[in-house]
Amino acid sequence: MPPAMDNSIRALKGVGDRRAALFEKWGISTVGDLLRLYPRDYEDWSHPLTVGEAPFGEPCCIRATALRAPAERRIRRGLILYKFEAGDAGARMTVTLFNSKYAADRVKAGETYLFYGVVGGGFTHREMSSPKIEPEEGEARIHPLYRSTEGLTSRVIENCVARGLEGMEREGLPDPLPEPLRRQEGLCSLTEALRSIHFPADQPALERARYRLIFEELLVLQLGLLRLKSRSRAASGVRILQDYTPDFTARLPFILTGAQARAMADCLRDMRAGPPMSRLIQGDVGSGKTAVAAGVAYSVIQNGWQAAMMAPTEILAEQHYKSLSALLEGNPLLGEEGIRVGLLTGSLPAARRRETLAALAAGEIQLLVGTHALLSEGVDFARLGLVITDEQHRFGVEQRALLAAKGDNPHLMVMSATPIPRTLALILYGDLDVSVLDELPPGRTPVATFAVDGRKRERAYGYVRKHLDQGRQGYIVCPLVEEQENGEETLTAASLASAVEVERKLAEGPFRGYRVGLLHGRMKPVEKERVMNAFSAGEIDLLVATTVIEVGVDVPNAVIMVIENAERFGLAQLHQLRGRVGRGRYASTCILISDAQNEEAVRRLKVMCETNDGFRIADEDLKLRGPGDFFGRRQHGLPSLRLADLSGGGDMRVFQRTQQLARSLLEEDPALERTEHAALAQEVRRLFAQVGEQGLN
Ligand code: ADP
Ligand code: MG
Repeated sequence: MPPAMDNSIRALKGVGDRRAALFEKWGISTVGDLLRLYPRDYEDWSHPLTVGEAPFGEPCCIRATALRAPAERRIRRGLILYKFEAGDAGARMTVTLFNSKYAADRVKAGETYLFYGVVGGGFTHREMSSPKIEPEEGEARIHPLYRSTEGLTSRVIENCVARGLEGMEREGLPDPLPEPLRRQEGLCSLTEALRSIHFPADQPALERARYRLIFEELLVLQLGLLRLKSRSRAASGVRILQDYTPDFTARLPFILTGAQARAMADCLRDMRAGPPMSRLIQGDVGSGKTAVAAGVAYSVIQNGWQAAMMAPTEILAEQHYKSLSALLEGNPLLGEEGIRVGLLTGSLPAARRRETLAALAAGEIQLLVGTHALLSEGVDFARLGLVITDEQHRFGVEQRALLAAKGDNPHLMVMSATPIPRTLALILYGDLDVSVLDELPPGRTPVATFAVDGRKRERAYGYVRKHLDQGRQGYIVCPLVEEQENGEETLTAASLASAVEVERKLAEGPFRGYRVGLLHGRMKPVEKERVMNAFSAGEIDLLVATTVIEVGVDVPNAVIMVIENAERFGLAQLHQLRGRVGRGRYASTCILISDAQNEEAVRRLKVMCETNDGFRIADEDLKLRGPGDFFGRRQHGLPSLRLADLSGGGDMRVFQRTQQLARSLLEEDPALERTEHAALAQEVRRLFAQVGEQGLN
């Protein structure tokens, strides 16, 4: 028989196919998984009050005796009240239950119960509406509250967890944190922690459990990250002795900003000697990161090496491919040799893919641009010297490691537009040197941004037409959020239909007579390419698009953007979207249309109107959304944490402590192979399984 923890949750009494399926939706399939489903809050039933002691207006637990059985009263169709009096020697209260025959039937006159809820009314007449009611016996303790769903209430989960814990007590559980380490750090055992996180005896027990579990979670995170990043700094990198960036800048149609020139110089200095470069180029949208990457790649290639650039979407990869080929490929009229640029995406026809891979392996393609398809097997470089990831925040941390593994200690350049809080930067990029592009190319004016409600839509369209009439271009972004899956966009059939619908309505209505195009993630790659090319070439005036254009798309003549249902987007995303305009010498405008009334949405839109500063936006984002979401995988490619909060509070101290510990653990046992580390290694694999196992080795 497998150890209890690896058993399917179906082994638990009370879990049948239906509940198992619901659990599985949350990624819970074994008893062990279930025990790691931590409560999101607690109800303290441990010290029941008398009716007279109970405070008004806040949740509490009262011990009282039902004086009468509940009386049923039908108020109207679909609303039945059950009322009864409950009390003790000192006072009494009226208890009302709504439509819950089941709960009412359990209440017997003369029996004593625990009531959990909020007391209302006044001193002469106390009442409690819809309290939770449990028999006195065995219930006076702290109760866990779990996330719940239709068919899986917190109480049901609590019972399942209780049975799972019984199994754990019987069979024991391997503890990822070895005994000596626990003793040294003053941490309780895993069994104790799991028991107390679900059913704490008291507040201190809960604190001990939380501390121990957060410690474990962060240690596991650190170990995983360190192993991903463990590129030997001692190894020497490819030496790039000759600096060819002056030749490159001479080809550019513009003059580099000071920040761009500094960033390039930083990279060239890194690559001259010593360990491979690991550098983050951080610059707000539109700061000109591509040119920096191209210049550095150019130098590496002229020194006889290959370079790879990975972008998060096909549209962006195509665009880089086009602009880099134009810039770097030779001019036969001038007798120039030039650089051969290749493109690799998931949708390349098989024949072209074969051809590309062969040319790559032969070293003929010198710069390969692509999506995460670059990571796939069979993509072999002859002499990979430089790896660049564009818009790194859209990749998982492990993906840059995977790409780097395609060469022998290649130099690494990571580009990101998302300004992130310092703590998060430390986690994601702690091993990188940083160059900041803190200067925008000259002549840019901030994008004027307005938030309006739907009644102003026609006026907004009129304003767009005015710009189109002057030869400029624009975007209308539909609120069809496309989810990222393996770097590819997906769109449901329903929203797909409405994207098409929106485009048709606009083309036949307010934008009749203009050239209107449509771009969404479900289109065939050749279609996408055709539309993007036409838009870049100025053959389309107005592009109706989904969030596929969120990152990287660069058409400087596009100066106006309307974002429909703007409240549906997060701040970071709005900032990225808005970054598609304001990229050239024309003053640009962004109009956010939203009828939302809720405070948070209004606040977000206000922030957008007030500032173009990515760092301020990131800070506001963190404040508004809270750390849970912010640290979520969608934003930054980190595995999501269950308990720890890294937004700058107390858990940061644990974070730093675990960082030291992880380092010394890996020094002793680099592959975590020792028996006493087996359970720990398993947890590392489990946490990073969400982000792709292969990245770990
Ligand atoms: P991002 O940092 O958002 O990736 P890009 O590299 O796409 O920005 O550059 C944004 C736009 O600015 C592009 O059209 C690019 O050609 C242009 N650009 C970049 N550097 C300069 C510069 N020094 N002077 C003028 N335009 C520039
Ligand atoms: Mg870019």
